[in-house]
Amino acid sequence: IMMSYDKKIKSLLMVGLNHFGLKTAILSNISGNDYVVENCVDLHGELEPLTKFDLSNTFCIHTLKEDKTVGFHYVGKTKIQNHPCYENTQLESYIGTPLKLDEKTYGTVSFSSSSPVEPFCKDDYILMEILSDTISYLLYKKKSEEELEALARIDELTGLPNRRATLERLNQLIDQSKRFNKELSVLSIDIDHFKNINDTWGHAAGDQVLVKFARVASGLGRKTDFCGRIGGEEFVFVLSGSNVENAQEFGNRLRQCLAQEAIVLSQGKPITLKISAGVAMLDKQESIESLLARADEAMYKAKQQGRDRVCH
Ligand code: GH3
Ligand code: MG
Ligand code: MG
Repeated sequence: IMMSYDKKIKSLLMVGLNHFGLKTAILSNISGNDYVVENCVDLHGELEPLTKFDLSNTFCIHTLKEDKTVGFHYVGKTKIQNHPCYENTQLESYIGTPLKLDEKTYGTVSFSSSSPVEPFCKDDYILMEILSDTISYLLYKKKSEEELEALARIDELTGLPNRRATLERLNQLIDQSKRFNKELSVLSIDIDHFKNINDTWGHAAGDQVLVKFARVASGLGRKTDFCGRIGGEEFVFVLSGSNVENAQEFGNRLRQCLAQEAIVLSQGKPITLKISAGVAMLDKQESIESLLARADEAMYKAKQQGRDRVCH
């Protein structure tokens, strides 16, 4: 099994702790005066990730000011003993180095303890630099993978959650609804005569229509609601806490909003976007497949009955 980036970073922090004989290792993320513990190893077992401090209350402020590795092996016996950091933290020993990511200061890597240690030597400073470089490399890899992951969930054209992301989020909301005995409804939405738009005005015009739909649809609904693109001109709108009537009402509101917003194509001709939609409300034991199939069925009924309507 591959070790996660966070685990690898933790192992490196442990290496540093063992080498220096100190008690607390922190990878911090710093912006402005906010110092957030992003990863840590604390042999006292007190410090937790995501703990926030004021940067000015930490020794790392010196590290950032000097923009290089800074070490104090016995704070109580040095000139900074009156510094608020010391009064706040009571730390006697500290060594910290800036951490850069994409050539910007991201935070710090630091090791500390409430007991003094032997003076730091040249090799200690070299090790700090290597640890910081290696952790920065691991962070870079972690963040690029996270970015790719996020991109793989977004539909490029409309910016909506794509099929995969839509099904994932819907699955989570279905679990929640079952657990908390809450209502949940979905709308299966299909644009009417979309092929005509493509055939008459070209594929680019069709794309413009899809983007418009996405903009209008995602502007409606509550915070927990969302619209995803399931296929070409097929969308699913998920309404948590809604019953069939609420969802049907919402579908009709969406139809009205779309009707009010004519799309002016680059050719200058305005077109209005019409949709057919089907509503289904989650049954207690129902699977996602069955829920979506019922919503689709209702949507086909809307098509059969003449389109431009919402059925359940
Ligand atoms: P109906 O009212 O029955 O839904 O008819 P329709 O024309 O909307 O449905 P049909 O399924 O026949 O056509 C869907 C068209 O959507 C066919 C396909 O070429 C087009 N399409 C799918 N994805 C895209 C896309 O990303 N951009 C554009 N411009 N067209 C797309
Ligand atoms: Mg279709
Ligand atoms: Mg269609």
